[in-house]
Amino acid sequence: MTTRVLRSVHSGDGFHWVGDGFYVTQLLPGSPSLQELADPFLLMDYHPVKEYSPTQRARGVGPHPHRGFETVTLAFEGAIAHHDSTGAGGVIYPGDCQWMTAAGGILHKEYHEAEWAKRGGRFHMMQLWVNLPGRHKMDEPGYQALTAESMGKVKLPGGGTVTLIAGELDGERGPAHTFTPIEVWDIQLAADETADLTVTDGHTVMVFVIDGSLTTESGTVGHEQLGIFDREGDTVRLTAPETGARAILLGGQPIGENVIFYGPFAMNTEAEIIQAVRDFNAGLFGTLA
Ligand code: MN
Repeated sequence: MTTRVLRSVHSGDGFHWVGDGFYVTQLLPGSPSLQELADPFLLMDYHPVKEYSPTQRARGVGPHPHRGFETVTLAFEGAIAHHDSTGAGGVIYPGDCQWMTAAGGILHKEYHEAEWAKRGGRFHMMQLWVNLPGRHKMDEPGYQALTAESMGKVKLPGGGTVTLIAGELDGERGPAHTFTPIEVWDIQLAADETADLTVTDGHTVMVFVIDGSLTTESGTVGHEQLGIFDREGDTVRLTAPETGARAILLGGQPIGENVIFYGPFAMNTEAEIIQAVRDFNAGLFGTLA
């Protein structure tokens, strides 16, 4: 067993609105060196707990395109609705995950689910953009609605639980189909519990703390901070404080390809970005009212 060393800890860049429904802090992409460390994750927007007053309005983001990656939305509180140009759509509630493969191109809209919005309440979520390798960037788009009941569950020997959305731990698997090996785990630890999590040597491993904090032998990851581990080692050891802790672990095999990021597109080359803009302007991403 080789325990991973915590390499760096990152905070968000302050808060901004995405449309009028998502009040987020951005942890990724950040600097070019951070982008390399986070590979295969391109972007991470975190929406902390926030109270919304009741409204008849559709709060959110209207139709917009994506190409070259997947958008993964985790709902912790509230309800998020989605519709896209393939005709797919759905609502995710606490514990659910919306795993949308934009790949060759999709239009979608994302907003607070209407019935939930009429009541208002606490809203809490996270969105990740997961890169696709060049050979899959132009695949057909897809949509996976992953419900809380379908998630893998692991009870840790030292106490605590891990809910698996993607990836494998201790013989259990998350339901997400991924193009490259990806781990998205929701880790919950009670007071002073320590977890030894088996990870794949060479994979990127990061933890984002949404409750409490997490201590490692090489430093602490505070509330709403992203800790990134060195890629060597097969175990991540995390200890919760007396308040307990909850964190999202993001891991995966680095894709290691050039990334050109332009707005809602992430491709390997500038020529592919120019093509994406042309294709979008030519209406090739489909239609969505
Ligand atoms: Mn989007």
